[in-house]
Amino acid sequence: MQDVRDIPIKALRGVGPAKEAAYARLGIFTVGDLLYHFPRAYENRGNVKRLCESDGQNKMSVIMTVGTQPRRAMIRRGMTLVKFRAYDDSSDCEVVYINQDYVQSMFPVGGLFRFYGKVERDKNRYRMTSPVAEPVTEGQVLPPLHPVYPLTEGLSSKQIGQHMEMALALAAQGLEDPIPEQIRVREGLCTLSFALRAMHKPTDLASVEIAKHRLMFEELFLFGVGLRSAKHTTEQIPAPACTQNDLSAFLSLLPYELTEAQRRTVEQIKADMAKPYAMTRMVVGDVGCGKTVCAAAAAVIAVQSGRQAAIMVPTEILARQHYADLAPYFESLGIRCSLLIGAMTAAQKKKVHAAMAAEDESARVQVVIGTQALLSEGVEFAAPGLVITDEQHRFGVAQRAKLSDKNAHAHLLCMSATPIPRSLALVMYGDLAVSRIDTMPPGRQRVDTFAVNQSYRARLDAFIRKNVDEGGQVYVVCPAVEEQEDEEDLLLEEIGMAKESKPPLQAAVQYAQQLAERLEGYSVAFVHGKMKPKEKDEVMNRFASGEIDILVSTTVIEVGVNVPNACLMIVENAERFGLSQLHQLRGRVGRGKRKSYCVLVAGAMTDREIGEVAQRRLQTMKSTYDGFTIAEQDLAQRGPGDFFAKSSGGAIRQSGGVEFRLASGCSDGDLLTRAFSAADEVVADEQLLAHPALADAVGRMFADAANHDMMN
Ligand code: ADP
Ligand code: MG
Repeated sequence: MQDVRDIPIKALRGVGPAKEAAYARLGIFTVGDLLYHFPRAYENRGNVKRLCESDGQNKMSVIMTVGTQPRRAMIRRGMTLVKFRAYDDSSDCEVVYINQDYVQSMFPVGGLFRFYGKVERDKNRYRMTSPVAEPVTEGQVLPPLHPVYPLTEGLSSKQIGQHMEMALALAAQGLEDPIPEQIRVREGLCTLSFALRAMHKPTDLASVEIAKHRLMFEELFLFGVGLRSAKHTTEQIPAPACTQNDLSAFLSLLPYELTEAQRRTVEQIKADMAKPYAMTRMVVGDVGCGKTVCAAAAAVIAVQSGRQAAIMVPTEILARQHYADLAPYFESLGIRCSLLIGAMTAAQKKKVHAAMAAEDESARVQVVIGTQALLSEGVEFAAPGLVITDEQHRFGVAQRAKLSDKNAHAHLLCMSATPIPRSLALVMYGDLAVSRIDTMPPGRQRVDTFAVNQSYRARLDAFIRKNVDEGGQVYVVCPAVEEQEDEEDLLLEEIGMAKESKPPLQAAVQYAQQLAERLEGYSVAFVHGKMKPKEKDEVMNRFASGEIDILVSTTVIEVGVNVPNACLMIVENAERFGLSQLHQLRGRVGRGKRKSYCVLVAGAMTDREIGEVAQRRLQTMKSTYDGFTIAEQDLAQRGPGDFFAKSSGGAIRQSGGVEFRLASGCSDGDLLTRAFSAADEVVADEQLLAHPALADAVGRMFADAANHDMMN
């Protein structure tokens, strides 16, 4: 029998070619995909109130009778309104639909409807704009919760709901649960079919929570099984044993002694590389802890053993920076080293390619530092030995696979500045050995951290000036790109209704402009995530060279870029960031001789408005400076979800490349541990591992990840 999960979406009644294409845009091709397309929210339409109870702010439901014939009016070019009045026993209300002429025939005078939306209120005048309306028949109970799906053009939530009903019926008949029954029961999880129905056709929020819990467990469990079973296959890839690992010449060139943690890491690398199979090691440590020198040591070991090393980084600036830092050491050791980046001319690249592939050892380049350009066609190593990826969460699994494919049987070393709590590292990097660099080189200054609110704005501007006047540079980070004004708001203004007030989100674009105006005479520039990499690099370069005093950015500041002269980091709307993110941002400063500061600016005017939880987070930043400790606290305060989220650098994507549907919102640290120990148990038990739907579900999860990476 065909697995329900594999039935193509177009087999559902009502899904023709157009809907099929719309579903494809959402990444939905099969009934299984549809069942796992979860609502992004639920509207509580069960919250029925009377008009007079409206607070003018929050959405609510009102049951009203249509009082007047709907009339259509042209407002301005291409914009029409349909208006009518409706009433309940407390008052009456104007109902307006914008550009939805078809609703005219939907509201017969005297008809009873449940309207859901915001009821705007001006004293005793009420208005609803484009509310959701459902006809009510006397005595009937409408479902209180309505799933809101991530949508695309050509599909409404209602249509998805109809197709979902059919998919759920199919699922009820024969959808194998990938979680073995004995584990499901022991963990107190609901069945798969209950969970899917509860997510899509919810009766109450409590069952949604039960369903979500089960589905998050399922995701983490499958992920765990996938990682654990992959471990057995990746462990023994043959690779050249690099045994010429005397580093005394290299270490004597350094102007400092390695720290204890660095020494330990280098020893681990030595031991791994000396074996005749591939190292897969990850070095994790705070920004500035000195990972680069460990990478260089690994490269030296490879070269001394007659092999080549590639150091791959996510951006050209970072490649240049590494090249400038490391090339002199390599040269002193007689090691030939080249840079390979997209910005080089074709002729320059060709020359490097030839030197990489040279059969003649004396002409061969031994260490290449570069960007993705290292993955291009025609790039071959004559004697691959080691591949290092720095800040490698920026690379997907597929890219890494491509890189190690090209260098089949090379040792792999990854570097990451995202400290992960020990419990997470153990479970998430099941397939990688981890070296933790948990101490800083001596003499490193502490970045004094302050948490302030909006009432400090003037003092903050003065502080920026002071730092720049003394020759320093400043980063300002804001969480969002553009303040959007939608048609609806414009229209409401035009017809004389008060505009909805916007949350005081510091839009980076406007912020940069305003800051530039307030700080006349200082050079302010701006980078954001939607800029082309080339433009971004250019601005970053100008900042690195000191040409720009103040760099305003969204959270895109490149991890790893080193601007030692930057001494002040200001984070706007800091309450919106997780601890680990704040810590990453703080790590951008305090890298040079200048006394450095980090100011966390809350979006509110007073501390009380910030809220207790956010307040606690900001306080933690003031008192804690170690990334690993912060990560532990982050896990305790917000659960593992943050570590899965892309916004935090997606630390955990490093391992499997899997994107989570639900677990990225998981705020329960314990769930992860339980799911992973269940995964361990299953992988160790052949009978459990043979559970029918399990291998399939794991395969699907990791195949999706690989496909996704290919497309990026
Ligand atoms: P990251 O771990 O963020 O990649 P880097 O490797 O760039 O950090 O090191 C940051 C700075 O610390 C560099 O300037 C480097 O020369 C210096 N450094 C590294 N190790 C030591 C050490 N043991 N003692 C003193 N300085 C060190
Ligand atoms: Mg680094």
